[in-house]
Amino acid sequence: MYIIMLGAPGAGKGTQADILSQEMNLPHIASGDLFRQALEKKTRVGLLAKSYMDKGELVPDEITIKMILERISRPDCALGCILDGFPRTLHQAKVLDKALKERGKSIDKAIYIEVPDEELVKRLSGRWLCRICQTPYHVTSSPPKTSGKCDKCGGELYQRSDDREETVKERLNVFFAQTAPILDYYEKQSKLIRVNGNLGIQGVAGEIISALKGRMSP
Ligand code: AMP
Repeated sequence: MYIIMLGAPGAGKGTQADILSQEMNLPHIASGDLFRQALEKKTRVGLLAKSYMDKGELVPDEITIKMILERISRPDCALGCILDGFPRTLHQAKVLDKALKERGKSIDKAIYIEVPDEELVKRLSGRWLCRICQTPYHVTSSPPKTSGKCDKCGGELYQRSDDREETVKERLNVFFAQTAPILDYYEKQSKLIRVNGNLGIQGVAGEIISALKGRMSP
């Protein structure tokens, strides 16, 4: 199964993709994580992506598409994967469909996690992530047990440079201008599942899983 997680930055795509990945035993592929890993390793793609990420802009399609298509062609994605953060433009969505079709595969469902704008800004500006396992925390709603340390692996927590308020606003603008049109694209294919993203982590996960079960049954 190939599932796409859609939603504005801060909607909880990564958290829900992780839960779904364990539930369905499929790899979680996050384009933003791949760029951040590339940047840590100081690769050409990573350094190039940084200039766009720092401004809250999208990395050019050409670079992003190549990176994702390479990643999903690896053996661990042979039975499917949970895509988080990709596609983000209509062009990416169309190229992805074409690439999967060539392999006799297709996207099964696109899950759109809806969260009001004010809540998104609050979530992103208080978000801290583990440098090692990427587990997200929030200064007020889900702080770690020990300040600055990940509860799961003890890794150091850091704040993403693009989670600053100014960049957050630009990322939200980019989402509504460039990514929202994708909703229509999947809706027309009857693949879109809309989920209320304001129900708490387990509440949202429950909605997603029951919606998937409902739509997948014969
Ligand atoms: P994320 O971790 O998904 O919020 O992504 C962080 C940043 O990586 C975005 O603001 C973009 O600059 C870049 N990025 C991630 N995924 C894509 C994509 N599918 N297309 C273009 N840029 C992307």
